[in-house]
Amino acid sequence: MKAMAIREILEYPDPRLRKPARKVEVVDEPIRQLVADMLETMYAEKGIGLAATQINEQLDVLVMDLSEERNEPICLINAEILEESGHQEHEEGCLSVPGIYAKVRRAEHIRVRALNEQGETVEMEADGLLAICIQHEMDHLRGKVFVDYLSPLKQKMVLKKMEKRHKAVVAEA
Ligand code: ZN
Repeated sequence: MKAMAIREILEYPDPRLRKPARKVEVVDEPIRQLVADMLETMYAEKGIGLAATQINEQLDVLVMDLSEERNEPICLINAEILEESGHQEHEEGCLSVPGIYAKVRRAEHIRVRALNEQGETVEMEADGLLAICIQHEMDHLRGKVFVDYLSPLKQKMVLKKMEKRHKAVVAEA
């Protein structure tokens, strides 16, 4: 197995964040390598979740770790929501939209079916932050970013802030 690698995270409004993921047909060594890279990247950037879309891989893979010690990685491949109920609204952030936080309305409780990194089918119930995280990452895999839920005015503000950030980064280089 190759060493893990920290990958570059695409930043909003990069059009590649709009590309939808395709289903993973076989969970093989290249997929497990991708999962390892995604976890490495997520931990390095101190995120709680990452979708393959964010590192420019159009595959239906997401990783998360909501534990305090950062030692309980969860990987979901080809995740689908079987049931959802209730509503919750919490402030969300995103590694692809650094420095921006905004409230988004999501389902409170979800039941999800997916493959794990061994290729086994798993079903899980999630609520609270875990449910938010899964829905946020699944959105990425469909080319959707949490900014899309905001009002047009707020979206404009986010775009401006990101433009400023990217100009500053170029100036530093
Ligand atoms: Zn995100």
